[in-house]
Amino acid sequence: MIVARTVAECRARRKEMRKLSLVPTMGALHAGHISLIETARKHASRVMVSIFVNPTQFAPTEDFSKYPRPIGSDLAMCEAAGVDMVFNPPPEELYRPGVPDIVVDISSLSGVLEGKHRPGHFKGVCQICAKLFNIIRPDFACFGQKDFQQLRILTAMVEALDFPIKIVECPTLREPDGLAMSSRNQYLTADDRQRALCISRGLFAGEAEFKQGITQTNRLIATIQKPILEQHVNIDYVAAVDPITLKNVELVIGPTVLAVAARVGNTRLIDNLVIG
Ligand code: AMP
Repeated sequence: MIVARTVAECRARRKEMRKLSLVPTMGALHAGHISLIETARKHASRVMVSIFVNPTQFAPTEDFSKYPRPIGSDLAMCEAAGVDMVFNPPPEELYRPGVPDIVVDISSLSGVLEGKHRPGHFKGVCQICAKLFNIIRPDFACFGQKDFQQLRILTAMVEALDFPIKIVECPTLREPDGLAMSSRNQYLTADDRQRALCISRGLFAGEAEFKQGITQTNRLIATIQKPILEQHVNIDYVAAVDPITLKNVELVIGPTVLAVAARVGNTRLIDNLVIG
């Protein structure tokens, strides 16, 4: 497995590959990331994983400095998953002094949900993904539905700016008890880990209610909120939105995303389910 730390080396080694799938990550890899790698392999003969904790998508109050960076075990997991190449640059390789910041702002999609609670987050996400897409020029880029707003915004960016890349959507992987896998789960204490289950439990309860014929989203939202409030977990939002426009919907008449963001202790978690 090749490990490139500079843009020049990354570009040189990429040229030796034909069809390439990219899996962008911030490291602290788990089975959810590995499932993206497996999907990536189905689309192209070569798979590259980028591991980069991107400073521009973190607000000053967020966990950038304490975000886990277990690069040794990440590389071992990539090697074991048959990854052909890892791009793992230091921050100064991608954000060079004297080079102006250029951001892509898709305000119609980034002003809601996560964007409301994490101002500037998606500008940072678009900035780093645009840079990675230009450096690596993958044929496919795989992203998880776990971060469905990110997926929607990056799909819109690729479309609007004509990147010659196909975005591949990958399903959310969960722990056996239902908790969506996340690098941030390791922040949870044993007690918080148990309480965090209320998020997926709420979403599954909302889905079950929809399957029983309830289509009013205010009722579904109340059902989702119930177990979360019972655990005294702080809700940032529970929403039912259109997967394309990300606008709130009142009645489920087509595909609808039920989305939750909540803080369990000091750990902010997000999860979602698509119904309809
Ligand atoms: P991150 O390292 O958290 O930035 O995530 C890198 C990629 O992995 C993103 O496309 C995420 O949506 C995806 N991802 C994170 N958690 C999961 C999960 N539980 N299942 C599937 N994909 C995931």
